[in-house]
Amino acid sequence: MTSAIGDLAHTLRQSRYTVVLTGAGVSTESDIPDFRGSGGLWKKLDSMKLLSLDTLYYEPELFYTEGLELLNTMRGKQPNAAHKALAWLEQRSLVQAVITQNIDGLHYESGSKRVLEMHGNLRTCSCLRCGAKTSFDLLVDAASRGEIPPKCRCGGTLRPDVVFFGDPMPPSFQEAIQEAQQADLMLVVGSSLQVAPVSYLPSLARQLAIVNLEPTPYDRAARIVIHDKAGIVLSKLVEHIKANLL
Ligand code: NAD
Repeated sequence: MTSAIGDLAHTLRQSRYTVVLTGAGVSTESDIPDFRGSGGLWKKLDSMKLLSLDTLYYEPELFYTEGLELLNTMRGKQPNAAHKALAWLEQRSLVQAVITQNIDGLHYESGSKRVLEMHGNLRTCSCLRCGAKTSFDLLVDAASRGEIPPKCRCGGTLRPDVVFFGDPMPPSFQEAIQEAQQADLMLVVGSSLQVAPVSYLPSLARQLAIVNLEPTPYDRAARIVIHDKAGIVLSKLVEHIKANLL
């Protein structure tokens, strides 16, 4: 792995514009299971059904109990070594933006500034009737008191600001396309690259580097592929860069 880390450090320093694309795998070391990795949530629950617009609209009881429980497992966690390394790289202008499929907010918590969240977040929720935004905690509190579906002051239903199966992509997806198009290097961390349309972004960047435990459909197209834990690889990358700065 040492030579691959050196190669990644070199490629990163040569790149004028580097964009990172992260998936659920960057947060497994923060104790949040991914979907498709071994032990992922996909294998345990029908997450696709629970976290869908159909369930939100037609089976609110299921959505605001089991669906919400699943979302709640991703809250209150701490950033890990991988999130911190990415924030460090951004501070040194070695990374220009992080595009994430995650909803856990851990890139922000670790100090990354330019984060494009493709699938929303667990900080806020919105009213389906008047569009007002309010804290996600309010929705959770209401649901735990048995108010299902939780209501806005106007009487409309509150829904999480998460992109569920069946939802359109947020406006930040267009921004992510532009970021990918201008990237000399896209560093993919912890994504199976199987969820469209985000899985299309790596094809837009000039060069690819992939850090993922398991193989991805883009491995053959990538300049560097490291099949190991994100926290270990990115910490070593930071150590390598620091050592060469001295
Ligand atoms: P995924 O579950 O499809 O793939 C995760 C990949 O990460 C797997 O290939 C796995 O091998 C790899 N991986 C697991 N642990 C790793 C580690 N420590 N280091 C390196 N690689 C590791 O994830 P995805 O591609 O992001 O797609 C899943 C969808 O589910 C996304 O849309 C995301 O929004 C959502 N999701 C989000 C969270 C979260 O916010 N933390 C958690 C679960 C699912």
